Amino acid sequence: MNIQLAMHSSPRFSTWIWLPDWRLLIDAGDGVTQQLGYKIRKIDTVALTHAHRDHIGGLLQVVNQRGEMNSFAVAHPCGSSSFKQLEAFAAKFNPGTSWNAVWHALEEGDYVPGSGDNKLIKAFRTRHYSDDKPENPPRSLGYHLIWRKQKVRPEYRDLPQTELDALRAEIGREGITSPVDERWITVGGDGCPLNPAEVVGTKLLLHEATFLSPDDYDAEEAGADVGHMHSTLDDALQVAVAAEVERLVLYHISTRYTDAEIRDAVRTTAQRLGVKAQVWVALPRRIYWNLLGERPLWSGDG
Ligand SMILES: [Zn+2]
Repeated sequence: MNIQLAMHSSPRFSTWIWLPDWRLLIDAGDGVTQQLGYKIRKIDTVALTHAHRDHIGGLLQVVNQRGEMNSFAVAHPCGSSSFKQLEAFAAKFNPGTSWNAVWHALEEGDYVPGSGDNKLIKAFRTRHYSDDKPENPPRSLGYHLIWRKQKVRPEYRDLPQTELDALRAEIGREGITSPVDERWITVGGDGCPLNPAEVVGTKLLLHEATFLSPDDYDAEEAGADVGHMHSTLDDALQVAVAAEVERLVLYHISTRYTDAEIRDAVRTTAQRLGVKAQVWVALPRRIYWNLLGERPLWSGDG
């Protein structure tokens, strides 16, 4: 499996994730255009997880730069009024290029319209805002990246190759195949631990782990009613264990921790929980151009 993944995630300041195989940018934190440069032109979809400043600080710049080319999608949770205001402002700010952005307000379960014939992007609901109620439209979303493949229909799979070839010649390729959706990547965005049932079967999970220790989370919560919820390292790893994912990227880790503290905590917690997955860590303050090309920090057996 060879997935290109470039990203940066420093909570409070900026998060963005560039997935060239899907021509997709997930979140558009401050500095994203500066880093991606002309790669911005390869974006066909910008999918936003929620409207916090560190995830949208660079959006206006992306919309304007990418809009110099042709139409592209900007997808966002439909329950967030901030995006409607951003859409209106972006159109006025630089109408010559911004009109190329086609904004889509997504419900949970929606696919991003026009995100390709076989590379699909599907939204699911996350829990990030403490006052978000399940009966209301979602204010935060995660995204599944799906690869729709044409595979030989189950009833023909055991046929010898010669018979299959003959059948293909007779009824055509479409006749012997049917579409199969493979879930390749799941990006959770900010929030409470994902429901393992939502992520089971994905080849690569990106899960936030804002706090290394529940004590840090509790201390932050005690300081003020912050209005939103996050996951701890323990939470994120437990999701991976419960969903039996094989590859995990931990990201959105607070800048209060040093790199050494983060690495130590991940190894210790993965050991304690018996994590079988390969685990990569997107350290805060860093920019990664090919994160999965690096050695995982944890590989099941340590
Ligand atoms: Zn947030």
